[in-house]
Amino acid sequence: MKILVLNCGSSSLKYQLIEMDGEKVMAKGLVERIGIEGSRIKHTKTGMDAITREVPFPNHTAAIKYVLDILVDAEYGVLKNLNELYATGHRIVHGGEKFTKSVLVTPEVVKGIEEVIPLAPLHNPANLQGLKAAMEVLPGKPNVVVFDTAFHQTMPPKAFVYGIDYKYYEENRVRRYGFHGTSHGYVAKRAAEILGKDIKDLKIITCHLGNGSSITAVDGGKSVDTSFGYGTAEGILMGTRSGNLDPSVMIFLMEQLGTAQKVSDEVHKKAGLLGVSGVSSDLRDVEEAAEKGNARAKLAEEILINGVKKYIGSYAAEMGGVDVIVFTAGIGENGIGFRKAVCENMEYMGIKIDAEKNNCRGKEVIFSTPDSRVTVMVVPTDEEMVIARDTLRCASEAK
Ligand code: AMP
Repeated sequence: MKILVLNCGSSSLKYQLIEMDGEKVMAKGLVERIGIEGSRIKHTKTGMDAITREVPFPNHTAAIKYVLDILVDAEYGVLKNLNELYATGHRIVHGGEKFTKSVLVTPEVVKGIEEVIPLAPLHNPANLQGLKAAMEVLPGKPNVVVFDTAFHQTMPPKAFVYGIDYKYYEENRVRRYGFHGTSHGYVAKRAAEILGKDIKDLKIITCHLGNGSSITAVDGGKSVDTSFGYGTAEGILMGTRSGNLDPSVMIFLMEQLGTAQKVSDEVHKKAGLLGVSGVSSDLRDVEEAAEKGNARAKLAEEILINGVKKYIGSYAAEMGGVDVIVFTAGIGENGIGFRKAVCENMEYMGIKIDAEKNNCRGKEVIFSTPDSRVTVMVVPTDEEMVIARDTLRCASEAK
């Protein structure tokens, strides 16, 4: 059974075609600059070199039509015809409090996603464009939506209500939602599988550290707290996002910059590793500059490491202990020195790592020592595969 996974941004579209028998990625690609001059598609058929084509894509519907054409292309395609496609799965950033799990798309579901637009004004409209385009060009094929927020809907109110007048929660739904849920849920489950343990018996801290980063406390398989909040700038320092800020700093920025949009740009696009280091939003560049003696790059690195340590400590306190710590995403999977630095001086918490086992990138590995009370591991994330699995399950249940 073949599932198409779509992840639509405002001007981009990522796709994967997955054969669920054996869970193999048959083709994948990226369309960029949709609706902008110079739009292009990069397509890779598994086992072949990637091809890039400059094609004018005025909108998402045009882009999806082109993707479907290339998927049935004699040379670069992987399908004989589109009837082979079983269903399409869509990544939707915000499900608000309405969606606690992946669902088959119905007119009510589309309405529900539209209702949540005020909470994710940049992301949900783009995700919806992709969904509506797929419904148009693939009539009769089921669509399933998978939400970044859904996994965190198990958080108790003490973790998701902010300390401001309760009316903002009641009237405006201002609360912690959390994101990266598909990733946190997947790596927590996978960690339990690798360890041969029931996830219900484990207290896990999952560290999804990439360009955007968040950390989640997963107790008995359920998210009980997470570092992303109402939006995606809370928590630890990120590539260009600030992480936690004293509200007084926001007030200061508002006074300095004058508009909410400028403050938003400051904390989302000019902050984080980039803002502190002045070098780059990419940890590799920051590490290299720090190595060469750049003091601000060193400081940015230290703030990030310190931030991750603080979350591990606080989530262990919140859950009454921790059995497993999982690192994932670009930095978590590849940052050898970074992981070592985070785990340093944590023996008091029962964290002991084996430097040699930690010396690896992008693969599943347990890098704590056998006598470490806490198991520390790397589990590469695979959000597309989770979306494909949920899509197959929801579409099959409906048939
Ligand atoms: P992601 O958003 O998950 O794709 O992660 C992207 C980030 O991973 C990049 O911005 C880098 O900072 C980081 N990254 C990738 N490879 C490495 C590496 N070898 N060492 C440190 N950081 C890395």
